[in-house]
Amino acid sequence: MTTTDKSEKASYEGSCQCGAIAFRATLALDAPFQCNCSRCRRLNAVMASVAGSDFTLLRGADTLKTFRFNSHTIAHNFCPECGIEPFAQGADRDGNAMYVVNVHCLEGAVYDKNAITHFNGADF
Ligand SMILES: [Zn+2]
Repeated sequence: MTTTDKSEKASYEGSCQCGAIAFRATLALDAPFQCNCSRCRRLNAVMASVAGSDFTLLRGADTLKTFRFNSHTIAHNFCPECGIEPFAQGADRDGNAMYVVNVHCLEGAVYDKNAITHFNGADF
């Protein structure tokens, strides 16, 4: 699904490359970001935040592997078959689940490359 107004939330299906992990996420694509931490720098992923209530894992709960590093607060979920990390899971300050999805894993997602902001994860 695409939307012309990027500040408006839309529902997307997302997956790893082989499809073993699949999810549905409802989000706006007006604030894509990249991060310079030791992991994101290697993945070169463009990401977007999703509220816990706007994320549904459709497939792969028993398949995905989780990698944690540094403070171990973020679950980096990747597919052991194809190696792609379609999303990570963390929590906000109140302890509510939140997700960061790999925008390039969303079907039909269109975003403005000039809108990408840079998160200084390397200093966390
Ligand atoms: Zn896969």
